[in-house]
Amino acid sequence: NEVVSKNFIEQIIEKDLEEGCCDSVHTRFPPEPNGYLHIGHAKSILLNYGLAKKYNGKFNMRFDDTNPTKEKIEYVESIKQDIEWLGADWEERLFFASDYFQQMYEAAVLLIKKGKAYVCDLTAEQIREYRGTLKEPGKDSPYRERSIDENLILFEQMRQGKYQDGEKVLRAKIDMASPNMNMRDPVIYRVAHMSHHRTKDLWCIYPMYDFAHPIEDAIEGISHSICTLEFEDHRPLYDWVVRELEYEHPPKQIEFAKLYLTNVVTGKRYIKKLVDDGIVDGWDDPRLVSIAALRRRGFTPESIKTFVELCGVSKSNSSVDYAMLEYCIREDLKLKKSRVMAVLDPIKLVIDNYPEGEVEYLDVANNMENENLGMRKIPFSRELYIDREDFMEEPPKKYFRLYPGNEVRLMHAYFVKCESFVKDENGKVIEVHCTYDKDTKSGSGFTGRKVKGTIHWVPAAEAVKAEIRLYENIIDEEKGIYNEDGSLNLNPNSLTVLKECFVEPILRDAKVYDSFQFVRNGYFCVDAKDSTTDHLVFNRIVPLKSSFKL
Ligand code: ATP
Ligand code: MG
Ligand code: MG
Repeated sequence: NEVVSKNFIEQIIEKDLEEGCCDSVHTRFPPEPNGYLHIGHAKSILLNYGLAKKYNGKFNMRFDDTNPTKEKIEYVESIKQDIEWLGADWEERLFFASDYFQQMYEAAVLLIKKGKAYVCDLTAEQIREYRGTLKEPGKDSPYRERSIDENLILFEQMRQGKYQDGEKVLRAKIDMASPNMNMRDPVIYRVAHMSHHRTKDLWCIYPMYDFAHPIEDAIEGISHSICTLEFEDHRPLYDWVVRELEYEHPPKQIEFAKLYLTNVVTGKRYIKKLVDDGIVDGWDDPRLVSIAALRRRGFTPESIKTFVELCGVSKSNSSVDYAMLEYCIREDLKLKKSRVMAVLDPIKLVIDNYPEGEVEYLDVANNMENENLGMRKIPFSRELYIDREDFMEEPPKKYFRLYPGNEVRLMHAYFVKCESFVKDENGKVIEVHCTYDKDTKSGSGFTGRKVKGTIHWVPAAEAVKAEIRLYENIIDEEKGIYNEDGSLNLNPNSLTVLKECFVEPILRDAKVYDSFQFVRNGYFCVDAKDSTTDHLVFNRIVPLKSSFKL
């Protein structure tokens, strides 16, 4: 469905194309490989990729790996997998910022030669002091007027490893009185004797983000460098770098608001704590909103795409309710998936007047709203399982399911009437006895009488045992992540594991990531980590209903 109005980034791009500010659109997604991607990154990925597609341009995948302290190969691999899964295709355009270290070094040398950068011996703390505050201008560093020749020598010595971490830095020479703090001679290179996950020990000086990023964009010919709002104040520095380095086609930075979700933990810091404390089963625990977790839970790339589109692109921060993401996955699966029966908390139902040993096969549409999904056969015989909550010994008003003397429809099958029930020694109901009326078969056109309730079931002999996991939010961020005593405000019901469930025989061969509607219960997906052919495990992706309205 075509969105009629264009977002502000599209408006900028179209103007740039019209006015010849760029020949074609070239975007990139530049994650730092220091963690797993989350739903917010999905927005950035799909936005950048979508713009490249829309304007017939190019999309680069670039690892912004200029800071060796927190980066790992493990993250590089997970990020690639997540982006591929989302369907953003970088084709052969996969880049690493660390491949540009030589060019960045040369760029720094060029700035020194132009008198636009100097080596400074102040400590980090002194640099901060000299920088001043928003109310007052900063003070010049005593090293600011070093000669070009001296700067060239010192910078070369920094590269050769003559100095310890923090002993010297290279700073851009801009304006210590600028109202924008980022322009008060920012550090652009630092000494760090650290092994990089790709370049190993080749370098002991590393460029700072604000210097490296515009160079990466310029080298790759990026036309529009889209980033989040917190970099708005850095744009003058971005522009300064590309101008001073005299790139022929300088990229343009555009900022948009980050995506925030309410009612779930999105902060990487909090997710890491949950992982480290063993409260969740890794970064892909289905209660999290990392892309790996969403995939494992059963979300689809299409649902995430719809979600991101519904959120829109804006310049002001706001939060979107998690329920909207749930709405998107329901809408995606509604017509695509078979609707099958699963019994989560089974009790036996015996149809006393159904001939013992007889089995009939009921023809059932896999999805009543989409006949392309075809039909299946469900065996039906004397003994079935139904859900415990579909029987009550003493029903309240308006309870239309099974209770002594009441008649209901067994979905896709017959009317059954409850005649009696059996309890175990603890008083727990273990068996419900019914009689059925063979004239009432579904699809037979029977109109003799009506029943108010329809319940689902599975055939006792043929049903497949399964483990089913139900989820709630692990922490409601809105209600506070921490308790007063500093502990995490965990929801004790965030995971319910039901080990003795039964599903229809058709699900015996379900594969990991297959998903289904379990009628009356929601959408479920075969767990990719724990499910095996002998022990099926399903995650509830989302319940069927919510109060969410678009
Ligand atoms: P986080 O702190 O959550 O890891 P980040 O900005 O440090 O986020 P990067 O790896 O630097 O993560 O991000 C790669 C890209 O994803 C950046 O362009 C960044 O602006 C974008 N991005 C990160 N978080 C969000 C978000 N919540 N919504 C939209 N875009 C985001
Ligand atoms: Mg990050
Ligand atoms: Mg970052």
